[in-house]
Amino acid sequence: RLYNEVQDLKGSIRVYCRVRPFLSGNSSFISSIEHFEEGNITIRAPSKHGKGLKSFSFNKVFGPSATQAEVFSDMEPLIRSVLDGYNVCIFAYGQTGSGKTFTMSGPKDLTEQSQGVNYRSLGDLFYLAEQRKDTFRYDVAVQMIEIYNEQNGLNVPEASLVPVSSTSDVIHLMNIGHRNRAVGATALNDRSSRSHSCLTVHVQGRDLTTGNILRGCMHLVDLAGSERVDKSEVTGDRLKEAQHINKSLSALGDVIASLAQKNAHVPYRNSKLTQLLQDSLGGQAKTLMFVHISPEAEAVGETLSTLKFAERVA
Ligand code: ADP
Ligand code: MG
Repeated sequence: RLYNEVQDLKGSIRVYCRVRPFLSGNSSFISSIEHFEEGNITIRAPSKHGKGLKSFSFNKVFGPSATQAEVFSDMEPLIRSVLDGYNVCIFAYGQTGSGKTFTMSGPKDLTEQSQGVNYRSLGDLFYLAEQRKDTFRYDVAVQMIEIYNEQNGLNVPEASLVPVSSTSDVIHLMNIGHRNRAVGATALNDRSSRSHSCLTVHVQGRDLTTGNILRGCMHLVDLAGSERVDKSEVTGDRLKEAQHINKSLSALGDVIASLAQKNAHVPYRNSKLTQLLQDSLGGQAKTLMFVHISPEAEAVGETLSTLKFAERVA
């Protein structure tokens, strides 16, 4: 394993927190964030006696002014390990509207600067593969899967696994995938926030001198919104959706927490999501969880529950 650094040989779990900026058009700009620095963030939590402060620590905290490039800046070793034959999972977690899709894909009016983790990861992957072209021959294929109500669906129906050879191939494919997702959304009113959207990148490398084959895989997952719904307010399909989301997100939390604690038993089988990702969670696989929070004081309840979820898996 020519290109491995020693630390690359170990599996790992990292948690980054990202705070969305206030959006223009907001009626109020009162923030729940007291302060943040490096890996720490302090929230103004409502309590019986005025406002209490609650602090959380993560591997990193990105504030509202962090750019897409900054957020991606130290992810290259993760991408390199996929080319070395390891599996990687990158998740975006948080309540609807907190910036998950912004981090993974980017804003609606995408520019090169605003491209998210998906595009940048694939860009790096092709760049690094090119650098190794004298010693390795790489084949890359991608797959877009949506998990809705614990059922899989493919966003690019006729071609479940599509070979790609450049970032523009991937952009083209993702546009098709997003369009299909949007079509499904009209009936159910923004279904995207209630399904998990997974872009999986399969990499196969052939060592040109030995003929050895290595396989790595990267899952880029934009999770369903983590907000709790009020059971007294939703019924029928919406309640069923909420229960499925709740089940899969807590199953994911349980899996990552038991990996972080190095438990002997890891409960992969409790949801479709964790079953799908089983090979890429644990063992020598690497996990990066972006937890997103909204800065608004009104969202402080969800913000605290997001940070508690994240603290448990960190
Ligand atoms: P989610 O996917 O979690 O529901 P989005 O990514 O759609 O949330 O973000 C909600 C809105 O906030 C979108 O209009 C998005 O462009 C904007 N937004 C999110 N994060 C940022 C950011 N870091 N900088 C600027 N705008 C952001
Ligand atoms: Mg989204």
